[in-house]
Amino acid sequence: MDTVVESKAGLKTPAYAAKSAKSPLGPFSIERRTPRPHDVLIDILYCGVCHSDIHQVRDEWGGSIFPMVPGHEIIGKVVDVGTHVRKWKKGNVVGVGCFVDSDRTCPACLAGEEQFCEGGMTLTYNGYERDGKTPTYGGYSTRITVDENYVLRIPKGIPLERAAPLLCAGITTYSPLKHFGLEAGDKLAVVGLGGLGHMAVKFGHALGAHITVLSHSPGKRQDALELGADDFIATKDEDAFIENAGRFDFILDTVSAKHDYNSYLNLLHCDGIMVLVGVPEPGLLSAPSLILKRRTLAGSLIGGIRETQEMLDFCAKHGIAADVEMIAIDEINEAYERMLENDVRYRFVIDIASLK
Ligand code: NAP
Ligand code: ZN
Repeated sequence: MDTVVESKAGLKTPAYAAKSAKSPLGPFSIERRTPRPHDVLIDILYCGVCHSDIHQVRDEWGGSIFPMVPGHEIIGKVVDVGTHVRKWKKGNVVGVGCFVDSDRTCPACLAGEEQFCEGGMTLTYNGYERDGKTPTYGGYSTRITVDENYVLRIPKGIPLERAAPLLCAGITTYSPLKHFGLEAGDKLAVVGLGGLGHMAVKFGHALGAHITVLSHSPGKRQDALELGADDFIATKDEDAFIENAGRFDFILDTVSAKHDYNSYLNLLHCDGIMVLVGVPEPGLLSAPSLILKRRTLAGSLIGGIRETQEMLDFCAKHGIAADVEMIAIDEINEAYERMLENDVRYRFVIDIASLK
């Protein structure tokens, strides 16, 4: 703890931030709070780079709060604990995902689905603490202070840099496959082979589904098969949508850019389900795409703390981790550009040592 510089406001912490939706990210300094009785202070080792970071830094969803320190796929080591913390001790390897608090009293929180908190979950970044005025800052920084109940245990055996993306990309794909009841032998189509998509392939494979990747990047065919897919469809080929009509039980759509939902829905057979997790700009939905075969269209948002822990334990048991490309913090702006060109295999992870 001798590196900690404490001011009245808190612990001075190096970070990387975007000052506005139009500016690149650059060095920035933030204050982390000294641990309250139920807090842990985490020295961050790795932080994954999610496409949601780009959406929010560029204010594509509206309402972004600047300066913004993104990052919600955090892996680190506990370096200090508050006086009442019993769950964690110094040296524990832990994770922090997309939220760091919630109202804890609403039916969603009591059900362990804090992501649907009626009082609003406290986002790890681009949000405000429960006081409604202190901005939250994410994992593109050297440390973070988090309430002990919003911290995950990283099971032994998962390489730490490859565990970081599980905190968002992992839970976001695991949760809908479980919730909507994917079963062994089901025909699952994963649309978009990016950070989320490649995790969906791994989970689908571990759950025994027959997996087809639908991708607008024909060059990803071999990767898809190596990741565990059984088949690959290049969606640039318009005929593919005719040839594969009615083929799938379950479609998980992870695409970050605008695309035609109707043509994908038509790939479901009667009573099939398509779950959206990607958040592109709004697209049109035509009612017959659902009506004609009694199809279901659904959405899913990350996952609660309990299910995130379940997913991490599932990964350890099945030898699952993200495929990552490590970057230094000063490569982050270039990494965003490469993600927008689908040039990442399959998740950038920032080595936070490069910020210290
Ligand atoms: P990513 O790594 O950039 O992957 C997105 C994939 O979408 C790309 O690899 C690409 O796959 C496909 N794609 C991109 N542009 C396309 C286009 N013009 N037409 C068709 N396909 C295109 O992003 P990510 O981090 O996985 O995130 C994906 C989306 O999920 C983002 O919108 C993100 O905000 C959202 N998200 C949602 C949640 C949630 O809780 N629901 C959580 C995290 C992220 P191919 O090259 O294979 O086509
Ligand atoms: Zn994310």
